[in-house]
Amino acid sequence: MTRNIIFLGAPGCGKGTQAGLLVRQLDFVKVSTGDLLREIAKEDSDYGRSINNILNKGILVGDDIVNDLIDRFYCQNSNKAGIIFDGYPRNIEQAVSLDQILKKNQNSVDAVFYFEVQKDTLIKRIIGRYICTDCGTIYNKFFFNTKKEGECDRCKSSHFNVRIDDTKEVIEDRLKVYDKSTAPLLDFYADKLIKIDAEQSADIIAKLIMNHLK
Ligand code: ADP
Ligand code: AMP
Repeated sequence: MTRNIIFLGAPGCGKGTQAGLLVRQLDFVKVSTGDLLREIAKEDSDYGRSINNILNKGILVGDDIVNDLIDRFYCQNSNKAGIIFDGYPRNIEQAVSLDQILKKNQNSVDAVFYFEVQKDTLIKRIIGRYICTDCGTIYNKFFFNTKKEGECDRCKSSHFNVRIDDTKEVIEDRLKVYDKSTAPLLDFYADKLIKIDAEQSADIIAKLIMNHLK
C-alpha cells in the first residue's frame, strides 16, 4: 500500500529540500506541481506561455490543470512505497480532488507535515535560492551553498538557475495567496497534521520527519 505524505507550508519553508533529502533515504518518490508546471512553462506554445505568465505573477494555476497532473502522476506511481506531495494540494478544492484520486486507488492521505517558518526567514530563503539546472538540488546563498563554489555537490554540474518568481515583489503576492488559499488546509487536515519547527537546520528537520515515518 502506497503511503501518501503531504508537505504543507508557505513558499520557501523548505518542502522541496526535505522532499529531495527523504526520497534519497526512503524508497519514495516526490511530486512537485511547481516543478511540473515549470517544465510546461518552457514549452514554445500558447499553453506553455499562459502557464509561464501565471507562474511569473505568483498566483495559482487552475485547479483542473494541477488535479489532472496529479491524477496522471498517481496512475504511474501507485506501486511505489510512498509518495511525497510537495506544493499540492494548495487549496480545499485540490485537497478534495486528491482524496478522490486516492480513493479511486483504495488509498488515502497518511500524514501531513506542516513546516512552520517565520515570514522574515521565508523571504531570506526565497531571495537566496538557486537550483542546479541538471539535477535539481536546491541551494541557498545565505544558508546552504555548494561545497565547492560553482559546482553542484551532487552531480558536479556548473549550471545553476534562479527562479523568475523568486523576487521580493512576487514573494509578497505568493505569501498572500498562501494565507488566503492554502492556510485553510491546516484545518482541513487537522487530524493528520504533524507540525515541524522548520526554522531548524535541514538535517535536523529530515531526522524529525524520518522518525515520524518509521
Ligand atoms: P519550498 O519548496 O518550500 O519553496 P525550498 O526547499 O526550495 O522551499 O527551500 C527554500 C530555500 O531555503 C532554498 O534556497 C533552500 O536551500 C533553503 N532552505 C531549505 N531548508 C532550509 C533550512 N532548514 N535552513 C536553511 N535554509 C533552508
Ligand atoms: P512552488 O514551486 O510550489 O513554489 O510553485 C510555484 C508556482 O507554481 C506557484 O506560485 C503557482 O503559480 C504554481 N503552482 C504550484 N503548485 C500549484 C498548485 N498545486 N496549484 C496551483 N498552482 C500551483
